[in-house]
Amino acid sequence: MKLAGMIAADENRSPLTPDTAKKLKGLGYDVAIEPGLGAEAGLPDRAFTDAGAEVSADAVKGADVVLVAGPPDEAQLGKVARGARLVGVLDPYDNPDRLAALAHGGIDAFALELLPRITRAQAMDVLSSQANLAGYKAVVDAASHYRRAFPMMMTAAGTVPPAKAFVMGAGVAGLQAIATARRLGAVVSATDVRAAAGEQVQSLGASFVFAKEALEAGEGKGGYASELTPEQQKAQSDLVAEHLKKMDVVITTALIPGRPAPKLITQAMLSAMKPGSVVVDLAAPRGGNVEGEADGVTVLRPRNILSGLPGEASNLLARNFLSFVTLITDKEAGAIHVDPEDEIVRGVQLTRDGDVVHERFLQN
Ligand code: NAD
Repeated sequence: MKLAGMIAADENRSPLTPDTAKKLKGLGYDVAIEPGLGAEAGLPDRAFTDAGAEVSADAVKGADVVLVAGPPDEAQLGKVARGARLVGVLDPYDNPDRLAALAHGGIDAFALELLPRITRAQAMDVLSSQANLAGYKAVVDAASHYRRAFPMMMTAAGTVPPAKAFVMGAGVAGLQAIATARRLGAVVSATDVRAAAGEQVQSLGASFVFAKEALEAGEGKGGYASELTPEQQKAQSDLVAEHLKKMDVVITTALIPGRPAPKLITQAMLSAMKPGSVVVDLAAPRGGNVEGEADGVTVLRPRNILSGLPGEASNLLARNFLSFVTLITDKEAGAIHVDPEDEIVRGVQLTRDGDVVHERFLQN
C-alpha cells in the first residue's frame, strides 16, 4: 500500500508531519511526499526522510491513498491515479467542476470537513481542530491592529480602560476567541443563535447577548445552527446594532453548513462603530458576516487565516488525517478497507467508482 502527501494550491499547511508519516508506516503504508510539502510549516524534507518517508516529485504517482491539506487544482488532480482515495479538506461546496473532475477521474474522494459531529469522529474533526486555531489567531491579529491595549492598567499616569471585545458565533472558533480575548484582558461578550452556546459563553467569563426570539429558533439539526426567519433576524440584529456601537474589537465566526455565511453586521452597523475599532470576519471565505467598509474602522477579512499558523495547523490536521486513514485501513490484512455503510465514511465520501455519491451533492 502506498500513501502520498500532495502539495495543494494556495496552501501552506502540510497534510503529514514526520510524526504521522512514521505512524502511517506503522499501519503498513509506504509513505512518500512531494518535495517541500512541509517547508512552510517548518517541516523540512529531511525531517520526513529521517521518519522513513520517500521525498519525490513523483510521490503521488501510483499512490493508493493521497492526503492533501486543501482543495487540489486541475493539474494536481491529474496526478492522482484512477481508483486512488483522496483524503483532505476538499471544499466541495460551490465547486461542481471539481466534484465532476473527481468523479470523472475515478478518484474516491473524502472531504473531511463533512464529518458528522459524533464522538467517534472527534479525532478526525478537521473543522474543530482548525477552527480552534482560527479563533485564537483572529484575536491575536485583532490585537496587533488595535492601536490600544486590551487589559485594564492602573498606572500613576492614569487608568487604561480594558478593551471591549464581542464575539459573534460561539462555536469552536468563537469559544477560543472568547478565551483568548479574556486571557489578553479584554471585557468579552458574545452572541449565538444556539441556546446551548449561552452556557459555554458564560462559563468562559463572557456575557451572552441574544434576542429571545432568535435564540429559540436558531437551534438546527446535529448541533449546527439553522437559518433565521426575517422577523427573528430583525430582533437579533436590532439588539446587536446597539451593542456594536460600544465595542472596540469584534470577531465574527457565524456559519451555517452548506449555506453562505449569514450577514450579521450591515454597512449601517459598521458605520456606527467607534473609530479605532477592529473587526475580524472569520467567515470571509464563505461570503462573510460583515458588509462594507467604514472610515476609521479596520475590517480584516482573512481568506486563509491559518496560513499565519501553519506549524500548529499542520500538526493538528495531520493527526486528523491519520485518524481517518486508520479507519479505512485493515492493518492485519495489510489492505485498505472502506466500509461505505460506516456513518463516518457516508458522511465524508464525495465520489465512488466514477460517481458522485454524497447525498448533499447528488443532482436531482
Ligand atoms: P459553525 O462553524 O458551523 O458555526 C459557528 C457558530 O456560528 C455556531 O455556534 C453557530 O450556531 C453560529 N451562528 C450561526 N448563525 C448565526 C447567527 N445568525 N448569529 C449568531 N451566531 C450564529 O459551528 P462549529 O463551531 O463547527 O460548531 C457547532 C456546534 O457543534 C458547537 O456547539 C460545537 O461545540 C459542536 N461540535 C460538536 C462536536 C462533536 O463531536 N460532538 C465536534 C465539533 C463541534
